Amino acid sequence: MKSVLTFSAINCFRNCPRKFKHRYVDFLRPLEKVDTLAFGKVVHGALELWHTLPADNHRLLAVLDFIDSKYPNRGTDAREKATWQLARAIMIGYAERYAQEEFEVLHVEKEFEAEIRNPDTGRTSQTFTMAGKVDGIVRAGDEVYLLEHKTASSLTSDYLDRLWTDTQIALYSFYLRQLGFRVIGIIYNVLLKSRLQQRGGETDEEFEARRTALAAKNKSGKSTAQRQEPESDEEFAARLHDWYARPEAFHRERIYLSQDRLAMVQEEVWEITQQYLDARSRGKWLLNTSNCFSYQRPCEYLPYCQSGFNPVVRDNIFEVRPPHEELATAATETPESEF
Ligand code: SF4
Repeated sequence: MKSVLTFSAINCFRNCPRKFKHRYVDFLRPLEKVDTLAFGKVVHGALELWHTLPADNHRLLAVLDFIDSKYPNRGTDAREKATWQLARAIMIGYAERYAQEEFEVLHVEKEFEAEIRNPDTGRTSQTFTMAGKVDGIVRAGDEVYLLEHKTASSLTSDYLDRLWTDTQIALYSFYLRQLGFRVIGIIYNVLLKSRLQQRGGETDEEFEARRTALAAKNKSGKSTAQRQEPESDEEFAARLHDWYARPEAFHRERIYLSQDRLAMVQEEVWEITQQYLDARSRGKWLLNTSNCFSYQRPCEYLPYCQSGFNPVVRDNIFEVRPPHEELATAATETPESEF
């Protein structure tokens, strides 16, 4: 049986072969799960539902029910409540903005598995297959696109330029084409995350300071300022709703894929599989220390590498968990001996 490669695994090997060994050979994953992706995951789940359910009056209610189910502690946990409010507001805004959709949805959360080939000979890899999952495949007019959801904090020209460098989606397009999908490009479905926060109201001290400052500006030396009360949930929901009614709250960007780009992607995948086989046969997993602090945070394996691979550190911080969690159905268990 061939082993499964995903974009994450390929990217991981390219960034740091040692990290690849930790994650994809030894299956080490941190015990403490970082939940920074939780919001993005909930919105992805909500969009999956939205694009799967029949377009009737119940669709948005089902999506909002799904969001409610993801935040069961919103009554007592302020952080959870804020994320819940934002997720609901995004999807209500999305439903209003795209009540009439510009494309027909062909597949949602489409998983695939395809052969990896040597680009020079066409021979298939005896060791690996490529697997992945795309958010959607849609038809706009006569053309077929991948649909890729993104939640973003802001929509700058830099952000849009970076979409062109999205190797993952180019890679997946290449393999989906191999499987017969006539994908010509990607529609990036960008949803902005509002930074609005629910107003908490003024404390006695804040109110007194503001009232005094206003009075000082007034010839009479007095102020009629009223204390600002906390914003109710309904008021905040209305403010979020207005924010998501703005044109820039949602954005669709179409990017077309050139043959050159796809050929390059195929070349890269093949090269990385060869480098991997070489690393494995020689037992050499290089540490790329310039990658230890990328993405503005330390690599999850930093304490382990710093300890010189001390088994006590390993056992305290990590558990053994199969990789490729993003794939629900692909054959993901790949014991080292099978590589
Ligand atoms: S800490 Fe640095 S060297 Fe170690 S796995 Fe992570 S990126 Fe590689």
